[in-house]
Amino acid sequence: MMLKNHALRSLKRFLPWPRSFTSHHASERVDCVVIGAGVVGIATARELAARGRDVLVIESASTFGTGTSSRNSEVIHAGIYYPRNSLKAIFCARGRDLLYKYCTEHNVPHEQIGKLIVATSSSEIPKLNDIMSRGIQNGVPGLKMMEGSEAMRMEPELQCSKAILSPLTGIIDTHSLMLSLVGEAENNGATFSYNTTVIGGHVDETRIRLHIAETKSLENGLRSLIHPELVLIPNLVVNSTGLSAPVLAKKFDGIHTAEIPPAYYARGCYFTLNKMKNPPFKHLIYPIPVEGGFGVHVTLDLDGQLKFGPDVEWIDGLDEISSFLNKFDYTVDATRGELFYQDIRKYYPNLKNDSLQPGYAGIRPKVSGPGQPPVDFIVQGADIHGVANLVNLFGIESPGLTSSLAIAEHIATRFL
Ligand SMILES: Cc1cc2nc3c(=O)[nH]c(=O)nc-3n(C[C@H](O)[C@H](O)[C@H](O)COP(=O)(O)OP(=O)(O)OC[C@H]3O[C@@H](n4cnc5c(N)ncnc54)[C@H](O)[C@@H]3O)c2cc1C
Repeated sequence: MMLKNHALRSLKRFLPWPRSFTSHHASERVDCVVIGAGVVGIATARELAARGRDVLVIESASTFGTGTSSRNSEVIHAGIYYPRNSLKAIFCARGRDLLYKYCTEHNVPHEQIGKLIVATSSSEIPKLNDIMSRGIQNGVPGLKMMEGSEAMRMEPELQCSKAILSPLTGIIDTHSLMLSLVGEAENNGATFSYNTTVIGGHVDETRIRLHIAETKSLENGLRSLIHPELVLIPNLVVNSTGLSAPVLAKKFDGIHTAEIPPAYYARGCYFTLNKMKNPPFKHLIYPIPVEGGFGVHVTLDLDGQLKFGPDVEWIDGLDEISSFLNKFDYTVDATRGELFYQDIRKYYPNLKNDSLQPGYAGIRPKVSGPGQPPVDFIVQGADIHGVANLVNLFGIESPGLTSSLAIAEHIATRFL
């Protein structure tokens, strides 16, 4: 009998007892399933496969890394800002070290260019001092508080009253990183099934059944009539679906829904600076953080393109299927550029009129909303949600890229 599509065909190759999938769904036992092929899901798949497990990655898009993992600042963070002993602080520091080592060993393009966090007026200096204390508490090596004059000698286009130099901060080519991790995972036997969506599941204390559909049928079909085309019964499931993670967890029948945090979405837009022969900055420049983000900062990519962003704009969620299919609005509204000029000129007064072009946008997977204090990364196992062998990752916003290898290591150590 014919298989339904390419996605299910690749699943069939993976499954230990291949069968044909008919309109009536088949059900199969598998070892580890990672849902979502963003940088965190890929890193997790690589780690589990390296430890000898059979891993299947299910991704709704047609390839890896099309979500938040390709819509960020591509900064390797040093780990300065986060509350002491928080998962963000721990994973960022460990992930940073693992990432630099990985990039060096696997020729992933990256550069440790360093960053300046700047106070642009004397009223911001107490906040800068707080950031310095936090960084020291977190054990970030090499931090140095500088007078404005010293920082401005390093960066002649910069205007600031005081600055912290973080020499350990760097930039990375995220796509190359993900490509390398996917290659390694596959070499260790992991299978990536693209165009395949987890639409829900059913859980009890002992196991989880995942309901799978082909993405195309979700795109085309009547959403109210959606039914699983395949049911998988894995030994371990990692829900690393980023923006969709809380929405998907709520679709697991039988889970303690009280433990699933609410999902909030904060879009961040970038504007790029017209190409210049000599970019105005050699370091990353970060202002004092604002609610919801780090503030409109200067980021350089490895080609020397300079961009500013991301700003913070709270947006509404989507229905479940649209969320799984990443139908979020990533449009960059050119009119937001006006606010960028104001913000950027506080530290870069020579920014010329009409020099910024709309770039791209990313959306932060938040678990606290506007006006609420930031929340730590959430890594939930059975102790919290009551379902054996299910790991939910919620709120994996920045520094999720930096932390990816450390999150993967943590999952493998704690849940295998
Ligand atoms: C504006 C912005 C700037 C950032 N800058 C930085 C930075 O400089 N440094 C840093 O360390 N971090 C940064 N981050 C954070 C970092 O980008 C994220 O933490 C990281 O990319 C999250 O990866 P992920 O794998 O969890 O999620 P994602 O990359 O979003 O991957 C989730 C995947 O799940 C898939 N999916 C969703 N639902 C389903 C389903 N039901 N079935 C199957 N597949 C599904 C999606 O298609 C997607 O591919 C930034 C984030 C933003 C938004």
